[in-house]
Amino acid sequence: MAGMPDLSSGDDLRAFVDAAPTPFHAVAELGRRLNAAGFTELAEGDAWTLAPGAGHFVVRHGSLIAFRVGSASPAEAGLRLVGTHTDSPTFRVRPRPDVRQAGYRLVGVEPYGGGLWHTWLDRELTVAGRVVLRGGGTALVRLPGAPLRLPSLAIHLDRSVREGLTLDPQRELVPVWSHDLADADGLAAAVAEAAGVAADDVLAADLVLADTQPAGTAGADGTWVAAPRLDNLASCHAAVTALVAAPAGARTQLLVANDHEEVGSGSMSGARGSFLADVVGRLVALADPGDPQALPRALARSRLVSADMAHAVHPTRSDRHEPAHRPQLGGGPVVKVNANQAYATDAAGSAWFAERCAAASVPVQTFVSRADLPCGSTIGPLTATRLGIPTVDVGAPMLAMHSCRELASAVDVPLVVAALTSCFAD
Ligand SMILES: [Zn+2]
Repeated sequence: MAGMPDLSSGDDLRAFVDAAPTPFHAVAELGRRLNAAGFTELAEGDAWTLAPGAGHFVVRHGSLIAFRVGSASPAEAGLRLVGTHTDSPTFRVRPRPDVRQAGYRLVGVEPYGGGLWHTWLDRELTVAGRVVLRGGGTALVRLPGAPLRLPSLAIHLDRSVREGLTLDPQRELVPVWSHDLADADGLAAAVAEAAGVAADDVLAADLVLADTQPAGTAGADGTWVAAPRLDNLASCHAAVTALVAAPAGARTQLLVANDHEEVGSGSMSGARGSFLADVVGRLVALADPGDPQALPRALARSRLVSADMAHAVHPTRSDRHEPAHRPQLGGGPVVKVNANQAYATDAAGSAWFAERCAAASVPVQTFVSRADLPCGSTIGPLTATRLGIPTVDVGAPMLAMHSCRELASAVDVPLVVAALTSCFAD
């Protein structure tokens, strides 16, 4: 990793984010990249046969698991896993979204996750997601243009904003669609048109708001990545890039990208659900059929890297960071530690990750919250709790986490990819 930073992988990250306005799109983009690298899709409902060295992936709604089968059985060699999440804070479109007031048509939405909602004001927004069609088929949709907007209230109409902005989500965070009350069709017709079907063929939809501004470069030297959803699409991008790059070996290598992390992971596709356990169970059972010790042996010999974004020190609010643990943008992957197990990292995981990074000449930073501040969590502790796999929580440093427009550094992209590739190759 010596010499000039490789900023081209920042372009690849920007392309990944632009392709993924929702978890369903993220899964499709992961699948597209995996297909291009020779991985083939398996259905959970089919019987699998697996050959050493073969790459496959499985989709469960907004979540994806990809793996490359090792030459040794998981019970003998363990697995190397990297976990990420596909979702980000946004607004979910309500089942009956048509709202009419003050001469406008609006779209009823419900906040999803813990966003910095004021950052969604005055931006060019659209609707994207998955629709379910008559007959059971599905289609991804993203409305063209920027049909939605959350306009600020002019300061002349409420000067109390100088004391701080508070937004009532039910009353104030309702995006406006048009001022044409005579337009009978509205959102439902636009979604059906985007799906290429008749309006009455769309039976249900999982739709969210998405910012339409493409990911860009920022900073005086152009090394920063300004984009929506970097938490945690940047980790999804790094993990899939690393899995594709990693050489096949004795150990099975596995990437799990879960939906619903931002709302606690409790769903059939979330990290509290059975998806990872089901797939690992099948990999073990196919390698060692009928051996009741194979699964606990495989889990004990495995390692999981939970890859989720980390807080870089803020330029003007560094007081909110623990003085001895202040990750810098461009300083490489961050190991996240929390005494109360909001992160799964322990000394064994830390040491192993540090060795894998050293093998790839990648620098490592450390994050710990201030003692008087609670920290966020990740899929790491949930997955470690559920499966008993030794886990380390890591992530690329970033600013403005959960903003509509977040900030990271392209310098970190190849560093995190190299670190995760080294972990897969262990
Ligand atoms: Zn996250």
